[in-house]
Amino acid sequence: MSVGVETPPPVNQRPEGRYHAKDFKGRVDPDWCPGCGDFGVLRSVQQTAAELGLDPHRMVVVSGIGCSSNFPGYFNAYGMHTLHGRALAVATGVKMANHELTVIVTGGDGDGYGIGGNHFAHMARRNVDLNYFVMNNQIYGLTTGQVSPTSRVGMRTKSTPFGNVERPVNPITAAIMNGATFVARGFSGDQKHLRSLMAQAIRHTGFSFIDIFSPCVTFNHDNDFPFFKQRVRRLEDDGHDPTDWKTACEKAMLWGDEIYTGLFLEVKAPALHELEPILAEGGPVARRPLGLTEDQARALIEAMV
Ligand code: SF4
Repeated sequence: MSVGVETPPPVNQRPEGRYHAKDFKGRVDPDWCPGCGDFGVLRSVQQTAAELGLDPHRMVVVSGIGCSSNFPGYFNAYGMHTLHGRALAVATGVKMANHELTVIVTGGDGDGYGIGGNHFAHMARRNVDLNYFVMNNQIYGLTTGQVSPTSRVGMRTKSTPFGNVERPVNPITAAIMNGATFVARGFSGDQKHLRSLMAQAIRHTGFSFIDIFSPCVTFNHDNDFPFFKQRVRRLEDDGHDPTDWKTACEKAMLWGDEIYTGLFLEVKAPALHELEPILAEGGPVARRPLGLTEDQARALIEAMV
């Protein structure tokens, strides 16, 4: 007898509105500092998942290391809390094993743009069908306040007591230049807008990336909620066309009295799992017969755990 996994019904079958945000609440409460921007991001993902009618058992949330990377523990779905900067690589494995799952990757700017910067570039290039939500607070929070790849020039932190001398990464232009097919920016203090971006990202097939301003209220007193509230301006209010590559780049470069949030760019292109010949027929790898007897499968599992 061959061992396989029973074929489940199609993904995301539930009609929209069947779930409530509380259905996506994890068993433990976040240990984030009161007022941390990550609370708004967590609420937004929970509410968006409910509004889209996603099934928790057909979702996987993958993270790296950092305050925001504790996310999978606070969310009711399958979750993997992986290594620092390696969440995208693990999530690619999940997606390629079962491309019918909704895979969300969460983390921070240090994890994603510093330690995981290499993976960020290649996920965009390969157009892996992942939803990458980065809580960008422009500092390393978990390790109590060191300069990160998005900290501004001159910023004084524990590791830069005389001011940061390095120019920050621009995650939006980096994603666009590396070929990401959905590139957006949101703000934890504007959750209605953020939920709309998340819903579009999840519906998009391909690498969907949202850089989210999510202030660290404990260690970054430069880029706090009032800083962003005074500056953020929605691209939609300016009539931005997300198919206009050149304008998307120009607007992504602006950083000053006005900083744009919204959908910068959306491009239609086949995702990696749609291009892989081995996945073209026969459904997800995870549901195919393994070609092993039950005894062989059991012995293999026992050897691995
Ligand atoms: Fe949030 Fe900063 Fe506290 Fe970490 S240290 S939980 S990022 S406020």
